[in-house]
Amino acid sequence: THPVKLSAQLHPYGDGYKLLLSRDVTALAQAEAMRRDFVANVSHEIRTPLTVLAGFVETMQSLPLSEAERSSYLALMASQSGRMETLVNDLLTLSQLEGSPPPGAGELVDLGALMAQCEVEARGLSRLLHPLDEKPQTLNFAPAPDFTLAASVGELRSAASNLINNAVRYTPGGGTIDVRWERLADNRVRLAITDSGPGIAPEHLPRLAERFYRVDRSRSRESGGTGLGLAITKHVAQRHGGELQITSQLGKGSCFALVFPAQRVRPAKA
Ligand code: ADP
Repeated sequence: THPVKLSAQLHPYGDGYKLLLSRDVTALAQAEAMRRDFVANVSHEIRTPLTVLAGFVETMQSLPLSEAERSSYLALMASQSGRMETLVNDLLTLSQLEGSPPPGAGELVDLGALMAQCEVEARGLSRLLHPLDEKPQTLNFAPAPDFTLAASVGELRSAASNLINNAVRYTPGGGTIDVRWERLADNRVRLAITDSGPGIAPEHLPRLAERFYRVDRSRSRESGGTGLGLAITKHVAQRHGGELQITSQLGKGSCFALVFPAQRVRPAKA
């Protein structure tokens, strides 16, 4: 729902007055423009891999190909369809988050187990992106914290792994990524992911968590990004009453953090 402002004005008209009623439709028009942008973005993101796929199909139908060519074409086609699948999955996740009530406080997340899963995934991704002949990244995961969270474990996993995997994807070989949970002075808690990557210029920061916003479109695509990760992550934080904090210094690195309110914090089981 969007608030619509109504205003009334009296204007002299002939012998009397006329009443002018007007409606401020700025908010409505903005929402409509955002919806159009979103549909255009989704269409574009789907059309690109689809065009590549169609091109390969046509080539395979019209040209005699060696076995080696065939298998390399098929591998490229598989990667394009994988990309579409990731995009559709992210879109579904986003629409589920937008359409469902915020998670209750019933479910307690085992943060140790959750971080262990994220660590396995991140180390795998890091090895994949920086094979043995390249400089490896250093990944530091701090020990499990002495608290836990009343939160949705599935949502927390996707938010944490989005931020950790982004740090791995955008930080070059030889760089460092630190992941730690900490308790803030006001009893809120924070998951901070700090990287020594390229950093982000300040003018991009306010828009970074918008759907499909990317600083460098081609780099994001190359590393398998959909442009929806931070939008999903910000949603998850807000649904839990928390926030996504981003600080960055160009050329030095970035810190992405999820902050959760004190009401969701519980002592961890011994
Ligand atoms: P993507 O799928 O493109 O990574 P995200 O929503 O996860 O989409 O991130 C949006 C953009 O923010 C990225 O395209 C990238 O430009 C920038 N970004 C995210 N994380 C980092 C990081 N750790 N270091 C530098 N840039 C980042």
